[in-house]
Amino acid sequence: KIVVLDGYTLNPGDLSWEGFENLGEFTCYDRTEEKDIVSRIGDAELVITNKTPVSAETIAACPNIKYIGVLATGYNVVDVEAAAARHIPVTNIPTYGTTAVAQFAFALLLNICHHVQDHSNAVFQGRWTAAPDFCFWDFPLMELAGKTMGIIGYGRIGQATGKIAQAFGMKVLAYDDYRNADLECETMAYASLDDLLEQSDVISLHCPLFESTKGIINKGNIAKMKDGVIIINTSRGPLIVEEDLAEALNSGKVRAAGLDVVSTEPIREDNVLLKAKNCLITPHIAWAPLESRSRLMNIAVDNLKSFLDG
Ligand code: NAD
Repeated sequence: KIVVLDGYTLNPGDLSWEGFENLGEFTCYDRTEEKDIVSRIGDAELVITNKTPVSAETIAACPNIKYIGVLATGYNVVDVEAAAARHIPVTNIPTYGTTAVAQFAFALLLNICHHVQDHSNAVFQGRWTAAPDFCFWDFPLMELAGKTMGIIGYGRIGQATGKIAQAFGMKVLAYDDYRNADLECETMAYASLDDLLEQSDVISLHCPLFESTKGIINKGNIAKMKDGVIIINTSRGPLIVEEDLAEALNSGKVRAAGLDVVSTEPIREDNVLLKAKNCLITPHIAWAPLESRSRLMNIAVDNLKSFLDG
């Protein structure tokens, strides 16, 4: 028995579930609220989730679970320790969205640098740079060439983002626990976290959410950054202490932030960032082009087949 807890997030109808349907008795729920997780898993052996949490309590309450497949790169929605204690394998999908997420980090950054959205809105409101009521100084533009991008977490997506930054003429500083000296060149170097924070004009987050990375962007670390730094987060919301970022945005210490992820998703109405200055927020969609979702679906089916094949 296979249960998908939140199929809608992966497949709003433009992909087929056939690969899963061929592997067992298949049930797919569009979304599952927390109160329904245990009853919907029921006696299923194979649980597939994207964003719906599979906690230690859920694992304890569902003795038939034999496999948990996460339809995402980050697997923080599953209590992996509780799963391991029951010898339940948990699979994630590390590679499907590398290009998409790196491209999205730049979509956020370029919108911040060029105010594409603001300038277009102005035109649709009947304003043009020559008109007396509007001048492009309202939304100043910024070049990236010659600037430094600090990338925290230089894995697959971090490196793909670094390549785009280098193509834009930026210098890349990378902070990562694991260093691959082969990647270093004239325009890319590893750095300590403090050096990265002090020297970067743009900081982009690409490390996973671990206890060690939770809140890595906090008041103390923001104080070490250049005045007017730009922060991009397409990784996981809790990497940032949101109250501290909101304060820094409102004071101008941080020029702008582009965030695809927030601490609680969907975003809460009282999230301080909704009222902060110069903050772009998108609803965790960096991963979602059709190309990457079809890769994700194929790899998810392959993962499950590998498990069933032993
Ligand atoms: P990856 O495993 O290839 O890279 C992560 C890197 O972070 C690794 O190089 C690792 O050594 C490094 N790292 C681990 N702990 C660290 C620490 N304490 N300090 C600094 N670096 C550390 O993963 P990836 O494919 O590049 O994905 C990165 C993250 O992107 C995922 O964990 C996920 O949270 C996020 N993501 C978001 C979306 C989206 O739609 N917004 C989609 C896919 C992935």
